[in-house]
Amino acid sequence: MTLTNRSRKTDNSELSIVENTYFPGIFKGMGVTIKHFFSKKATIRYPEQKRYLGPVFRGHHILKRDDQGRERCTTCGLCAVACPAEAISMVAAERVKGEEKLYREEKYAASYEINMLRCIFCGLCEEACPKEAIYLRHDKFVPVFTSRDQVIYGKDQLVEDMGDRYLRDAWTKEDMAKLWIKQ
Ligand code: SF4
Ligand code: SF4
Repeated sequence: MTLTNRSRKTDNSELSIVENTYFPGIFKGMGVTIKHFFSKKATIRYPEQKRYLGPVFRGHHILKRDDQGRERCTTCGLCAVACPAEAISMVAAERVKGEEKLYREEKYAASYEINMLRCIFCGLCEEACPKEAIYLRHDKFVPVFTSRDQVIYGKDQLVEDMGDRYLRDAWTKEDMAKLWIKQ
């Protein structure tokens, strides 16, 4: 049975005097090296540089605030129910008088935790949320962790920083280049 019809003719002739110096072969090899040295690189310097992953990339979770800075989450629990990895847990609390500027609804999350060791970044929590309170950012990775103590993300790591708001609409390849590519 013939596996391939490709064949290569071998040259068994004697090397010339010039070929015997190996210089033609060295220069030919150097030419290939120089060509690749100046051509566009196929690799990047990760983690200093990161590739654009597109607007559908699901990364670090964020608990959104509304335009007035109030937490949107009302601890309805739908994200936890939708989560196939059972990674989300929360404790609800009732808003008291004077807290209207902190929480949008009468019920808020006194505690909200995501176990990142369980999370499979499916995005179902985001889809289940009726309050547009939880998102998976597409501009931020979950950092590498080296100990189990670092894998439970609480509100301190999840609630949106009003000084650095997350806007999915504004996300383009050019935004990515400005934010992530450190030269
Ligand atoms: S992304 Fe998926 S696995 Fe992770 S917390 Fe949300 S629903 Fe659970
Ligand atoms: S993040 Fe959304 S779905 Fe989850 S508890 Fe809060 S309001 Fe409900």
